[in-house]
Amino acid sequence: AKELGIKNSYQFFSPEMNASAMQRLSLDNALHHALERNEFLLFYQPQIDISKGTIVGMEALIRWQHPEHGLISPLNFIPLAEETGLIIEIGEWVVRTACLQNKAWQDMGLPHVQVSVNLSGFQFTPNLAPSILAILKESRLDPRYLELEITESTLMQNTEATLSTIKLLNDAGLNFAIDDFGTGYSSLSYLKRFPISTLKIDQSFVRDVTTDPSDAALTGAIIAMAHSLNINIIAEGVETIEQIDFLTRHHCNTMQGYYFSKPLPAEQFSRLLAEGISQKQIHTH
Ligand code: C2E
Ligand code: MG
Ligand code: MG
Ligand code: MG
Repeated sequence: AKELGIKNSYQFFSPEMNASAMQRLSLDNALHHALERNEFLLFYQPQIDISKGTIVGMEALIRWQHPEHGLISPLNFIPLAEETGLIIEIGEWVVRTACLQNKAWQDMGLPHVQVSVNLSGFQFTPNLAPSILAILKESRLDPRYLELEITESTLMQNTEATLSTIKLLNDAGLNFAIDDFGTGYSSLSYLKRFPISTLKIDQSFVRDVTTDPSDAALTGAIIAMAHSLNINIIAEGVETIEQIDFLTRHHCNTMQGYYFSKPLPAEQFSRLLAEGISQKQIHTH
């Protein structure tokens, strides 16, 4: 067993190991080889500034193109990568690929926008900052075009070490976003201690924002709080014009969701970036 990031890993398998454990074991084994076999892909989803009608960023989302099981969602292998410690290498691959891709698009003359990458809490080792800084240097991407998404629970673990890593990277010009904001057990005082540029309102609030009064109240309060703290706000999981209306009325102008575009393979995303989001798509009145 690897030392890093192990949570509950047992070395012994009982004879009555069931089918799902077998499946898991084979997935685990395949995950070990996925990197060298080049089976990971990044999809990109645009982030739209609705007041300007432009793409202002993109989130890089990993997929695993498995030779037999097809395209596997990160929800089905990131937890396994975390348990086995493979998240370190996979996470580095994600940062490198996203930086190289963004730089390549910039060099092609496409709009310069930020790429956001999701970081697992397990990636917060003393090597995280040096590794990301080395990748930025290698890719020659201006650090302000890389944003790192972390969750509230990451901020709650090893607070001092995490804080110094975040400060170091922030000083180097990178931005940090809190993903799935509002779903963790968070202490709002973290927003004061950590250099956070952006809060991403979790899609569970956005989903029912027009029908559930408490989701509406929470969403409104999160937006207002972000504004008064001078933190950017972005709504995730935007699917309908009614949600866009609500968010716009509450002064949240940056949005991400299927309404605008699903996450796309790089090739398709570059076309979207070149063409822009159509004006018709974002007029709400
Ligand atoms: P997340 O970072 O919160 O990403 C947003 C998820 O919501 C993505 O799912 C995206 O496809 C989905 N989504 C976007 N717009 C909509 C919408 O309008 N409606 C609905 N229903 N869903 C929408 P995805 O790509 O399956 O990723 C799931 C999660 O896996 C991510 O949630 C993130 O936590 C994790 N993940 C993805 N890529 C990476 C990665 O490279 N590293 C790590 N550590 N985690 C990753
Ligand atoms: Mg995210
Ligand atoms: Mg999220
Ligand atoms: Mg998430």
